[in-house]
Amino acid sequence: KAKENGKNQYRFFDAEIEQASDEMQQTRIELKKAITEQEFRLLFQPKVDAMTRLVYGAEALLRWQHPSRGLLSPTSFIEAAERFGMIEEINAWVISQTCHTISQARARGIDLNISVNLSSQQFRNKQLGMHIQSILEAHQVDARNLILEVSATNVTHPQIPFKETLRDFSQQGLKISLDDFGLHPVNLTHLQDLEVNEVKLDRSLTRHVATSAPALAIVEAMVKLAHALGLNVVAEGVEEEDQRRALTSVGCDQMQGYLFSRPVEQQFLFDAFSQLQLKSPTPSLF
Ligand code: C2E
Ligand code: MG
Ligand code: MG
Ligand code: MG
Repeated sequence: KAKENGKNQYRFFDAEIEQASDEMQQTRIELKKAITEQEFRLLFQPKVDAMTRLVYGAEALLRWQHPSRGLLSPTSFIEAAERFGMIEEINAWVISQTCHTISQARARGIDLNISVNLSSQQFRNKQLGMHIQSILEAHQVDARNLILEVSATNVTHPQIPFKETLRDFSQQGLKISLDDFGLHPVNLTHLQDLEVNEVKLDRSLTRHVATSAPALAIVEAMVKLAHALGLNVVAEGVEEEDQRRALTSVGCDQMQGYLFSRPVEQQFLFDAFSQLQLKSPTPSLF
């Protein structure tokens, strides 16, 4: 009897695995279609100056307009895209689209810096720097207008040549931002040999700065460290005025978050930019 149950359990487990791999297979097919049918979209979240609240740039954030499941956040499909080897193609589209937006902004007299998120997978490709350069050239966009965000989480992976690639980027005049800083433990000594220009303090760090003195003390120490290394500091996920005030008091340079704006369509970004250059400060945009 026990043996029989055991066998049933085994078969149940087997069926679960089968179903999971069916789902993976389905996701793979859908992602392929998303690429060919152009179901991806980019939204832009404004980055503002901490003191003046002026918009000085934006972060491009990917969305998938799924035919039946609606608008999907990258957290629900990036991992699968990485696993199926599709991330390079998707991110090439992201960079190309971003360059298009930068050049459209320029045509309106707006000098925009836009950040894009790279996947750590892409750093396995030794041609990455050259590849990005060719996209910039195709759109006649200056490297100084593009910021490449790379997550601090994987930046010490021994099998991926981060250091070399970041050096290539730097030589090409591309700016590099270390994303998700403070989310996972990172060996701080790596900061001395990685060529980065900016750190982005993760929302898990900035969340409690207005209500917890220790949380603020940690952020203050990180800002000091970053500044001592000559790095720019962006605080992410700023939702409340009290957080903005606390972060400004410890010297954060720039901010992003729902307090200022959610990720928006290109046109709203341009409008926000023109609006804010005229009358500031504006408490909330969208
Ligand atoms: P991230 O780069 O750290 O981006 C910040 C995330 O926080 C975004 O989520 C943004 O919409 C959200 N956010 C911004 N302000 C606030 C706030 O005030 N409160 C809260 N609760 N959330 C806020 P999103 O767009 O869902 O992106 C999630 C992650 O997906 C990104 O994290 C990034 O790692 C990745 N990602 C986004 N676009 C791309 C892309 O084009 N390629 C790749 N490879 N990854 C991407
Ligand atoms: Mg990012
Ligand atoms: Mg981030
Ligand atoms: Mg993050």
